[in-house]
Amino acid sequence: NSKEMGWNLENSYSRLPNSLFTTLNPTPVRSPKLVILNHHMANSLGFSVEELKSEEGVAILAGNQLPEGALPLAQAYAGHQFGHFNRLGDGRAVLLGEQRSPRGKLLDIQLKGSGPTPYSRGGDGRAALGPMLREYIISEAMQALGIPTTRSLAVVTTGEATIREKVLPGAILSRVASSHLRVGTFQYVAQWGTVEELKELADYAIERHYPELSTDGNQYLFFLQEVIKRQAKLIAKWQLVGFIHGVMNTDNMTISGETIDYGPCAFMDTYDPATVFSSIDTQGRYAYGNQPYIGGWNLARFAESLLPLLDKNLEHALKLAQDAISNYSKQYHDYWLEGMRAKLGLFNIEKDDESLIEDLLNLMQKYQADYTNTFRALTIEIEDESKLFKAPEFIKWKDVWESRRDRQRESKDSSQELMQRSNPAIIPRNHRVEEALEAAVEREDNSVMEKLLNVLSIPYAYTTEQDEYASLPGPACQPYQTFCGT
Ligand code: AMP
Ligand code: MG
Ligand code: MG
Repeated sequence: NSKEMGWNLENSYSRLPNSLFTTLNPTPVRSPKLVILNHHMANSLGFSVEELKSEEGVAILAGNQLPEGALPLAQAYAGHQFGHFNRLGDGRAVLLGEQRSPRGKLLDIQLKGSGPTPYSRGGDGRAALGPMLREYIISEAMQALGIPTTRSLAVVTTGEATIREKVLPGAILSRVASSHLRVGTFQYVAQWGTVEELKELADYAIERHYPELSTDGNQYLFFLQEVIKRQAKLIAKWQLVGFIHGVMNTDNMTISGETIDYGPCAFMDTYDPATVFSSIDTQGRYAYGNQPYIGGWNLARFAESLLPLLDKNLEHALKLAQDAISNYSKQYHDYWLEGMRAKLGLFNIEKDDESLIEDLLNLMQKYQADYTNTFRALTIEIEDESKLFKAPEFIKWKDVWESRRDRQRESKDSSQELMQRSNPAIIPRNHRVEEALEAAVEREDNSVMEKLLNVLSIPYAYTTEQDEYASLPGPACQPYQTFCGT
């Protein structure tokens, strides 16, 4: 039974105001089959891997059966989608409840692709296997890179077809998150709820994600400041590894500071701030170089929705919100600069560091160098195959960099170790991810994906077996395009 399986669900979200969700069961599927199970995740959540793999376990992961303690619900939220405000909600997902892990952590378990909900707005409520495996792979890679993220417990196929441009096998992803509270959740209550409801939501978010916040003073202001800080840190981490989220709508920005929604994301190959992969982002709103700015824009929407809690006097509340938001750019920049220094093996601070970094990035752009591989090559002191490493300007830059490193107290070896910890040798290269998905979806062969997941689980290891995964796609593979909502 589900107790032996390890289910230990709580339902704290369901005690929030009723307008914030609709209780409903997942829609059963024809014939559930397990495709992949995250053993490590299962163990840390207190599940028995054997039991989760059993017929009953798979039935639960497919939404055909409910585990003990589940109170399935679809969450309501709003969001600015490409700048336009919309009323939204889980259109193809249900929260089963929050699993209390053996170590006492409370984690949402959500089935994504579980059927239509009142928030589906015409969509079929389902998901296709390829995109769910893609989310599994990339979210696990992000975790290994040290970037806060929602996680993936399992993917099951439904035995049903999903109709997209072509007919694709249907699937359900079980997503694990420290919560699914979004900027859009607050926007929803600010727009359609009462101040009392807004307060309940904020108190709930603080309890789940910021329990250490001081109650001595303006706690909601502290809350706003902490969310801003976590997002500044998160987006800096994205920039440092070249991650492009692709759909930074306010409904896809969490209050916890975890990355969420892996629909159209992808890692940048050639360094170019204008890089966009998403087929629908025709204006480049969510381009690589625009992500930090959009982060601030979204946080301003979050601050607006908190106004009634910040102060009874609107003008004073606005002033507090504006001050908090105006700190974001500097915080982001400081996290980014700190990360960039580490990528170049620099421990201390010199005033020209920023121009040293900018010079390198400009050269990478000019010579169309691969972002990850340039830092990898600098780390292991090889000559990258790109034109960059032959360019006289770059050779000059390297001299400046080397003397900068020589001026610091730390040894060359420890500088190199710092670089190795800060520059992934391996990222989920788009062509590698596609190759893994093709094998899994078209041929039901998971071996390519399993091998990729293994390599991605130790991105800073610099093992020789990883070398082949560092290589770039052939010219035929470009330009790469991604899609949301598939
Ligand atoms: P996203 O752009 O992925 O954040 O999705 C925006 C909204 O569309 C969310 O509320 C999703 O739940 C909803 N949605 C995406 N795909 C589907 C689908 N196939 N059926 C119903 N709703 C969907
Ligand atoms: Mg979303
Ligand atoms: Mg999505």
